[in-house]
Amino acid sequence: MTYEVSIIIPAYNEEDNINPVFMRVKNVMEEANISYEVIFVDDGSTDKTLERIKDLVTGNKNVRFTSFSRNFGHEAASSCGFRMVQGKAAVLLDADLQDPPEVIPQMYQKWKEGYEVVYGRRSRRQQEPLLKRASSYLFYRVLRLFTNVPIPLDVGDFRLVDRKVVTLFNALPERNRFVRGMFAWIGFKQTAVEYEREARHLGETKYGFIKLGLLSIDALVSFSLAPLRICIAFGLIITAMSFFITLVIVVQRLVWDLNIPGYALMTAGMFFLGGVQLMFLGIIGEYIGKIYKQVQGRPLYIVGESSEDPGNL
Ligand code: UDP
Ligand code: MG
Repeated sequence: MTYEVSIIIPAYNEEDNINPVFMRVKNVMEEANISYEVIFVDDGSTDKTLERIKDLVTGNKNVRFTSFSRNFGHEAASSCGFRMVQGKAAVLLDADLQDPPEVIPQMYQKWKEGYEVVYGRRSRRQQEPLLKRASSYLFYRVLRLFTNVPIPLDVGDFRLVDRKVVTLFNALPERNRFVRGMFAWIGFKQTAVEYEREARHLGETKYGFIKLGLLSIDALVSFSLAPLRICIAFGLIITAMSFFITLVIVVQRLVWDLNIPGYALMTAGMFFLGGVQLMFLGIIGEYIGKIYKQVQGRPLYIVGESSEDPGNL
């Protein structure tokens, strides 16, 4: 039988959340009378997450799983989950219950109305640190500014997508997978369901400040050439400025016969240019790194154990 909805739950060290999240999903889906399956992706957890998942697989025939050989990151885990989808639509859900499963029936309703992608929009984020909220606010706006892809604001990975879109997503060959950007890029009719983001149920966030920063760079680089263009613009401005300064110095020397102590200007200029060059080399390097990864063509993840063969791109 094909289920209506496949619910993908990536989990990394979430031993205490596996059962609660499953029970909540189960209650919600049974109450709404929607047939569903749950796909757990254990992202190389070092605690008892995998055991908890296997317990559920034993007791419920609508639960499947894949476990990675090590931690490959949330983007790889969700990509694996999408490849395992058998239902007519798929939902991506965090294991920590920050995104309430109660919203899924509303998403399902929208999908029935004909929307291929229904994302959850966070109307309020309870108890998340101000710094995290502020940086995520800024991140989405900057990303929007720099890309042509209409990435929706204040939207996380919590979403329902039609099977057709899942198939297209699975066929995208890129290694650097910024999931929400990719769905925005694929397009189709999209809409949002508002919900309040809750505090994490148990355990702690795997996305510290640095990891979030790196994710932002990934997102920017995979969806925009704007940083490279900014380098070009900067280069042009500096070149123009240096021409101007040279002209001024020559005129001063020839017309007014001034004796110019040049070292201050020179050192300042040297440091400035050195800094700018290093920064731009870094930006270019970031793109080359992405190209390198893509060319290497390694799989996104290595399966350690699975209730089936999810395949690898
Ligand atoms: N996660 C994962 N692999 C990782 C990090 C996180 O599969 O390397 C899972 C994690 O178990 C959770 C979801 O991705 O279900 C979101 O992670 P988290 O709650 O730490 O992120 P936040 O909500 O703080 O952005
Ligand atoms: Mg979370």
